[in-house]
Amino acid sequence: MADANLTPATSAGELLRLVRTGQATTRKALQNLSGLSRSTLTSRLDALQSAGWLTESGQEDSTGGRPARQLRFNNRHGVLLTASIDTMHAEVAVTDLGGQRLARRAGAMRVADGPEPVLDRVLGWFRGLLADCGHRLDEVRGVGLSVPGPVDHLLGRPVQPPIMPGWDGFDIPGYVGARVPAPVLVDNDANVMALGAQRAGFADSPAFVLVKVSTGIGAGLIVGGEVYRGIDGGAGDIGHIRLPGSSAARCMCGSTGCLAAVASGGALAARLTELGQPTASGSGVRKRVLDGESDAVRLTRVAGRQVGEVLATLICVVNPGVLVIAGDLAEPHFVAGVRETLYQRALPRATQRLRIEISEPAEGVAIAGACAMVVESVFAPAEVDRRLAVLSSVTTSR
Ligand SMILES: [Zn+2]
Repeated sequence: MADANLTPATSAGELLRLVRTGQATTRKALQNLSGLSRSTLTSRLDALQSAGWLTESGQEDSTGGRPARQLRFNNRHGVLLTASIDTMHAEVAVTDLGGQRLARRAGAMRVADGPEPVLDRVLGWFRGLLADCGHRLDEVRGVGLSVPGPVDHLLGRPVQPPIMPGWDGFDIPGYVGARVPAPVLVDNDANVMALGAQRAGFADSPAFVLVKVSTGIGAGLIVGGEVYRGIDGGAGDIGHIRLPGSSAARCMCGSTGCLAAVASGGALAARLTELGQPTASGSGVRKRVLDGESDAVRLTRVAGRQVGEVLATLICVVNPGVLVIAGDLAEPHFVAGVRETLYQRALPRATQRLRIEISEPAEGVAIAGACAMVVESVFAPAEVDRRLAVLSSVTTSR
């Protein structure tokens, strides 16, 4: 029994995580999982309840004996502010700690306007939405933001983002945290969407890939149930992998022959414009495809095949159970193209058990992912234990 994975979860923070993730929702179940004595378990649960993070109520299905009371993570213990900032558009929401939306606003926003103008608008929307749903700034427990470029997640700073001029190295948590007194977490949009999609629909698949194909192309990787970011947030940045035979195409990153230069929504919009069908962005391409316009459909299918080339390698490396296609081009023609090359190029071994799915509408997934990112950080077991220690030292020093 030396396996570290079998070490029982015993700290208050770990008990709260078991309840929050639904792994144990009664005292009995927690006692079984933790191996704690009844009195120790009681004192830890008391501490969590007095902090306001845990509630106990109702009845569970009883087998005739005394009904057990249900433990629940207290989703009402404050609110979260979340924003999904895309190239030309943003969605902002106030949610409870369980990700339930309390207020939402979406609209045009140009990420290219630079960090301060964009974040000021987002903060303005946050304040309006908080007022709309009757909450105050001091009830905010965390802020989660996603942006369309690589981010150093620990620092919350974009790293040389090709389509976010002015944002390179900008201290987003510093700027937002000076205006909202709560932890601020930032990540790349594909990572946040991957987290949201995996937690909501595919929690049983600890290896999971989401590819977002909109103005740019990026992938979010879940490995071992957690977002895999690499050394500084560059993991999954597949849009700038060179595609053999497309060296003439100039990319927004300054290089040539990148996947994003030929197969992104932005690249297809440019091709359609050249063909005399003016198209401004990936969402414009999507509209033409949904209208059944033949050039848009043909180019989209080819783009799917090209993205499939790169995904064939990625799938062999990561061996995920689920591949989700998200973004403007997440529609059947594109996905058919992806399947075509993926099944041709990847080992049967790698695709045998692979499910390929089209994402739910991107915005809901991004907001859900931002909530999960914040709650899993703010209520990480070590963080909960640290805050309980602070609370108890405050109590004892009185
Ligand atoms: Zn590039």
